[in-house]
Amino acid sequence: MKKLFDWLIKPFREEFWFLFIVWMLSAIPALISGIKIDNLFRAANFCCKALVVSYLIVLFCSLFKDKISKALKIILIPLLFANLVLDTGMFEIYKTHLLDETVDILLGTNVEEAQGFLETYLTSGTVLTILTSLLAVPVFIFRRKITLLAEKAWPFFALVFICSIPVSLYHRPGKDVADIAGWRSVSLLKVTMFAQYKEAPDFHYQDPAPRVVCDGDGPENVIIVLGESLSRSHCSLYGYEKQTQPMLESLARQDSLVVFEDVTSAWYHTIQSFILMLTEGDNKENVYNNYTVFDYLKAAGYNSYWITNQAATGIYDNFVAKLSALSDRRNFVCGGSKFGYDDALIPAFKEYLHNPIGKRNVFFLHMKGQHIPYNIASPESFRHFNVSDYPDFSEAQRVTLCDYDNSVLFNDSVVAGIIDVVSSGESILFYVPDHAQDIYDSDPDYYGHARAGDEKSVEAGRSIPFVVYCSSKYIEKFPDEYKTILDMKSQPFNTENFIPMLLRILKIETS
Ligand SMILES: [Zn+2]
Repeated sequence: MKKLFDWLIKPFREEFWFLFIVWMLSAIPALISGIKIDNLFRAANFCCKALVVSYLIVLFCSLFKDKISKALKIILIPLLFANLVLDTGMFEIYKTHLLDETVDILLGTNVEEAQGFLETYLTSGTVLTILTSLLAVPVFIFRRKITLLAEKAWPFFALVFICSIPVSLYHRPGKDVADIAGWRSVSLLKVTMFAQYKEAPDFHYQDPAPRVVCDGDGPENVIIVLGESLSRSHCSLYGYEKQTQPMLESLARQDSLVVFEDVTSAWYHTIQSFILMLTEGDNKENVYNNYTVFDYLKAAGYNSYWITNQAATGIYDNFVAKLSALSDRRNFVCGGSKFGYDDALIPAFKEYLHNPIGKRNVFFLHMKGQHIPYNIASPESFRHFNVSDYPDFSEAQRVTLCDYDNSVLFNDSVVAGIIDVVSSGESILFYVPDHAQDIYDSDPDYYGHARAGDEKSVEAGRSIPFVVYCSSKYIEKFPDEYKTILDMKSQPFNTENFIPMLLRILKIETS
């Protein structure tokens, strides 16, 4: 009996330094993430779980003779450290289930979005965690002194341990640390993919060109404003309680802005969404053999322009930048700057609008929109909402929500500004974001791109606004098309069908 007791208290009395290191390396990511996401109970819960597991590990090591036990420690400590580095990234991501998305975003989008992603999810938590974990070094160096202290203080340590057991038992169904192992294997797979990633090939016009019938009588100016990460649930045009879109709301009251009621984005990430929206064909794997929107526009005699506030170069700016190279004129207004606001699109657009290549023109305006981090998506003068406007939310949520809503408010002014430029001409304008965001829709701790496998998250990530502006000259000249648009607004629409819709409205028939 005494032997058993001595063995059970060994982790506190003789191996306390080791217990402490094992616990620290396994609990710190949880602790920091818990504090960051404003949920202290969850942080404490994870720390207690980690303490129970650490105790069992140390107890197990102490079963062996001195030499083997020492060897186990030498192997375990670096392994636990490596695990911590991985877990930290995982935890930051896991609490969001975002692993797939992490790599997809890195692979599939542009430098700014990838940087924004890393800054939002990884920097502060990860760096802090890794720095804190270095505390293990002095604990290891002073292990003899710690053991001397523990010989006297072990009853206290044992008491803390016993108290932690009930806290450790709480398990959040389906959301707990046990899932991490599964996600980790996915992560390694994805990291391998990332390492093997190669730059996307160039797009080319298909030969033969699509056969189109059009009488050359479509509208003069077609403007397609491609938004980024705008959620319908944060649009006052769709009944959001905060007035995030006062300017578009006022246009909608004048009938010139048609607000589509039930629109789903083709996908919840940029690349796949653009593939589905702007290319047309059965082969979604090898989209380079499909017709793109540019093939159709060229065949129908339209000149195309691509004006973008997103980045121009870099191996991550693969798909969209490559696709846009098919346009007749292209302008990267921010030159890759992360802090360039979307209103920079307007003067560049005016330049093209007033000096067009020919009579019929399609202008694509690609915004930075609402992609993370939200706090840099709007200038100071648009910080209308502040944290005190969100009393029903946690502190962390308030910051995110007010940053996001301010960026929607700014987005409203940019889209309305573009409309203002074309309102006197014969113009039709579409505003469509590539996808939405999951802003605490699926989990009170998570915001960002929708997470694969979570139904609620995906639904939120695909619920987008979609509006069509028709100038009075356009309505006058194309009453039938205007009526078609009005008829379509209450029908469910998926942006996968954007090309057929565009062609129909532009009176371009395919055969
Ligand atoms: Zn996007």
